[in-house]
Amino acid sequence: MTRTAIVTGGSRGIGAAISKALQAAGCKVAANYAGNDEAAAAFTKETGIPTYKWSVADYDACAAGIAKVEADLGPIEVLVNNAGITRDAPFHKMTAGKWRDVIDTNLSGIFNMTHPVWPGMRERGFGRIINISSLNGQKGQFGQVNYSAAKAGDIGFTRALAQEGAAKGITVNAVCPGYIATEMVMAVPEQVREAIVGQIPVGRLGEVDEIARCVTFLASDEAGFITGSTISANGGQYFS
Ligand code: NDP
Repeated sequence: MTRTAIVTGGSRGIGAAISKALQAAGCKVAANYAGNDEAAAAFTKETGIPTYKWSVADYDACAAGIAKVEADLGPIEVLVNNAGITRDAPFHKMTAGKWRDVIDTNLSGIFNMTHPVWPGMRERGFGRIINISSLNGQKGQFGQVNYSAAKAGDIGFTRALAQEGAAKGITVNAVCPGYIATEMVMAVPEQVREAIVGQIPVGRLGEVDEIARCVTFLASDEAGFITGSTISANGGQYFS
């Protein structure tokens, strides 16, 4: 697959695995990130994948960043909207700031990134958009009204935009990971982690590479008949 791809939040966690998998599949890859310069530098040193810093929550920054990536690597053909944050709190303690931060990054972020690449994909008659949603956007999660709302919104965005892209060779799909062994999940106390694993029928956390493989498949030329879909990768925890 010799396509040009960008992965938001592509230098750490699930995003880093996606960037590497797309590179291994033959893509020219750019990895966007928000602020962790040290992790980004280490990632570029390890992989040779260039990193680009801007916030997906800022529309103008996305447009400018995408223009820079396209000048460096060529027109973007594959966009993976992976960047995401959590600002958890039970609803009675959820501030407007926590609500806004999560909606701005996890939901508006995918609009901000997709809108600037869309005209070029339409003109060229090819595009792959893959949005990383979440199990907790499908089922709802205590303490995550903001996150669940944003991630459910990502699925609605996917389904609607898939219909607009279909006649133009652009597919739009979502991947919903369950609990994945990232730094964030491994940092929770062992007892809590054991309780989480106890709810997963396959009896383990998911691996970042298992999400990356779903994305690489959806990004491939061969996946052109799949659009508006949601792939659940959650070890059998929830069916949707
Ligand atoms: P991490 O916290 O490990 O990494 C998040 C990445 O997103 C980082 O590279 C970070 O940049 C970047 N990022 C955060 N905010 C912004 C922003 N405003 N603009 C640009 N980049 C940003 O996350 P995970 O790998 O765990 O999660 C990746 C995606 O998968 C998220 O959308 C998450 O919601 C989703 N997900 C994760 C699950 C899990 O179990 N881990 C389960 C279900 C869904 P920087 O390095 O600069 O901080």
